[in-house]
Amino acid sequence: MAGERILLADDDPRILEVLTEFLEEQGYEVHAVRDGMQALAAINAREFTLALLDLQLPGLSGLELLSRIKARAPETEVILFTGHAGLESAVQALRLGAYDYLLKSDLLLADLQAVINRALERRRLAQTNFNLLENLRQTQEELAQRRTSELQQIRRIGETLAGPLTGVQIIQGMFSLILESLPLAVLGLELTGGGEDLPREAYRRHPGTDTATFEAFRVWLKDRLDDWRPYLMGKAAQGPGNCQGPLPEMLEALVEAGEVRGLVAAGRETPFSPEETELFYIFTLQGGAAFKSLALYEQVRSLAIRDGLTGLYNYRYFWEVLHREVELARRYEHSLSLLFLDIDDFKQVNDTLGHQVGDMVLKALGAYLQDAVRQADLVCRYGGEEFVVLLSETDSQEAKISAERLRQGISQITVNLPEKELHFTVSIGVAQLEPGMDGDNLVKAADHALYQAKQTGKNRVCGS
Ligand code: GH3
Ligand code: MG
Ligand code: MG
Repeated sequence: MAGERILLADDDPRILEVLTEFLEEQGYEVHAVRDGMQALAAINAREFTLALLDLQLPGLSGLELLSRIKARAPETEVILFTGHAGLESAVQALRLGAYDYLLKSDLLLADLQAVINRALERRRLAQTNFNLLENLRQTQEELAQRRTSELQQIRRIGETLAGPLTGVQIIQGMFSLILESLPLAVLGLELTGGGEDLPREAYRRHPGTDTATFEAFRVWLKDRLDDWRPYLMGKAAQGPGNCQGPLPEMLEALVEAGEVRGLVAAGRETPFSPEETELFYIFTLQGGAAFKSLALYEQVRSLAIRDGLTGLYNYRYFWEVLHREVELARRYEHSLSLLFLDIDDFKQVNDTLGHQVGDMVLKALGAYLQDAVRQADLVCRYGGEEFVVLLSETDSQEAKISAERLRQGISQITVNLPEKELHFTVSIGVAQLEPGMDGDNLVKAADHALYQAKQTGKNRVCGS
């Protein structure tokens, strides 16, 4: 009640005096005026909790004042005094938003007090209501904002981790998702399994994290994957979660994608909220899913370019590489040579020992060739019992030496059968890329040289 301001407007000085004294005794701050214009000046100057207005005021009527007050400060409660003659106006005043009216003729201070109390109570309720609504609105706004940011994060996962990615891109994507959503001191990943191009580890630290802490974290994480072995082998039921480590607060999550196994861990000084923990798992889970599709992609790609029996590249891949290598050899004036190998009398192996033994021979030859050539050379199964070896930066002289070495080596291969040891030989045609030749011509030339090797007795090398 203290500090609540009341505007009192009445042209009768006696009423003003009595009411002012009464209200001030109650603890109200009273601003008493005697006509409409003074009242208007007062409401323009400041806000009132309550206005007690005579309906018949000189200067400006009580009704007029009422609408000015409501226009300026709708929460100010207004109570009107009227004589019997003004009853009709009083009813109109209620419609305009006045709280109540009192008849001047039988005005009792006790009644006035009761009406004021009720009016102020209503005002307080309205204020509380308003505050509650405002809180609700703010909370809803915050929720809507949080939801929007969650949806954005989910969209970012799609943008960052979908599509054909390399292992490095997956790790970068997963790390940037995590770091954009969680303030961290350190973040790390240790990976095992997977292809050769897959990185084995990745680490990031906040610029404010000291080197000793960062190093301790790296050492810890390298050991940590071992602790997960029972879980990965299905012997422990408990999944990843908050964990103990070199930083006060730590999270860890496994990345499981077929062959690829890994552990992602994050650390900082302050605890992680449930939302942050959840996001961390979502991001690492999505990272795992991206590794899975990478493995699948590589598998499909390998099926498309490799021969199922020997594991060597196939005919299709050979032609892909051949065109590229011919182009490069021409542009940079490197030499390029091709060996065309064909197993001698292979049909006889099949016919006398069976198709399965034939397959064993093909596999043994494939493994030998792959092992015998340089890293830069390409060995492919061209078809049936025919193989090609593409030798980059090699002229025909060198190629013939390589071919001869291979021929001799192949004749030493032993295929162990239950009742005997099987040996076989190959004929090899050699050709070099000459000016004006394309890939087609090179293959034809090598094939022609092979034909000569067969014609002149097999188990030999022929060519330019
Ligand atoms: P040449 O010394 O003139 O090369 O005689 P060859 O018997 O080796 O040649 P030919 O072309 O007459 O026979 C090739 C045989 O290779 C015929 C075919 O059945 C066999 N062959 C082709 N692909 C495979 C395979 O994947 N597995 C097995 N076991 N045999 C195959
Ligand atoms: Mg053949
Ligand atoms: Mg043959």
